[in-house]
Amino acid sequence: MSANTNKVAIVTGASRGIGAAIAERLARDGFTVVINYSGEAAPAEALARRIEERGGRALTAKADVSSAEAVRRMFDAAETAFGGVDLLVNNAGILKTATLADTGDDEFDRHFAINAKGTFNTMREAAGRMRDGGRIVNFSSTTLALNMPGYAAYNGTKAAVEAFTRVFAKELRGRNITVNAVAPGPIATDLFLTGKSDELIGNFAKMPPLERLGQPDDIANVVAFLAGPDAGWVNGQVLRANGGVA
Ligand code: NAP
Repeated sequence: MSANTNKVAIVTGASRGIGAAIAERLARDGFTVVINYSGEAAPAEALARRIEERGGRALTAKADVSSAEAVRRMFDAAETAFGGVDLLVNNAGILKTATLADTGDDEFDRHFAINAKGTFNTMREAAGRMRDGGRIVNFSSTTLALNMPGYAAYNGTKAAVEAFTRVFAKELRGRNITVNAVAPGPIATDLFLTGKSDELIGNFAKMPPLERLGQPDDIANVVAFLAGPDAGWVNGQVLRANGGVA
C-alpha cells in the first residue's frame, strides 16, 4: 500500500494543464483528489471519471480561489466527503502579458486576485484545517528570475507567492506541515501557448539547455516528490523546475 493511501489532496486549477496532470499523478500515487476549477465543469468531471475508472477517488469542486468564501466551501466539501485535507496544491493561476504601461487596473487586480490572493486564501483556510503532517505546494514561475518585458504584474504575483511560502513554512512550526513552491519554466499548456506565434514558442523551446518545452508531467513529477514521503525534510523552498533556463 502506498504511503499516500487515505490522504486527501486539494489541487486548485486542476481541470486543465499542469493541474490536471498533477491530479492524475497524485491519484496514481494513492491520494484522494479534489479537482478544483472556476469555469467549465466538463473537463473537471471528465478527469474525475478517468481517475475513478482507474480505481482512484476524486471529487470536483467549483470555486474561484480569489473568493475566500468559495475557498471555505471547497474545504467544507472536502472534509464532508473525505474527512480532512492532507495536501494543498496551489496551482490555479492566470497569465496575460502586457507592458507595465499597458496593464489596466482590471488586469492588475485580476492577476493579484487569482494568483496571489487565491494562494493566500487557500493557505489561510488550510492553517486551521489541514491535518498535522500535511504538505502545501505553491506555484511560482521561472519568469520571476528572467525579468522579461511584459511580465510585471504576473511576476509581482509570483514574488508574493514565494514570500507567502517562506513565511508560512515558519508559521506552521510544530505541525509537521511543509510549505514549498515550484517555479516551472515554459510548459506547453493553454496558459503558455495562447497568443504566442510559432516562432516565439520555438524561441522559448530553445531557452533551456535541454532544448524543449516542459510538459505538464514534468511538473506533476516534481509536485509528487514534494507531496510524497521522500521530501519530508524539504521546507520553505522554491524548486525551479525549468530544464535549466535560469
Ligand atoms: P492553464 O493551462 O491555463 O490552466 C489553469 C487552470 O487554473 C485551469 O484548470 C483553470 O480552470 C484554473 N483556474 C483559472 N482561474 C481560476 C480561479 N480563479 N479559481 C480556480 N481555478 C482557476 O495554466 P497552467 O499552465 O497549467 O498553469 C498552472 C500554474 O503553473 C499557474 O499557477 C501558472 O502561473 C504556473 N506556471 C505555468 C507555466 C507555463 O509555462 N505553463 C510556467 C510557470 C508557472 P478554469 O478555467 O475552469 O477556472
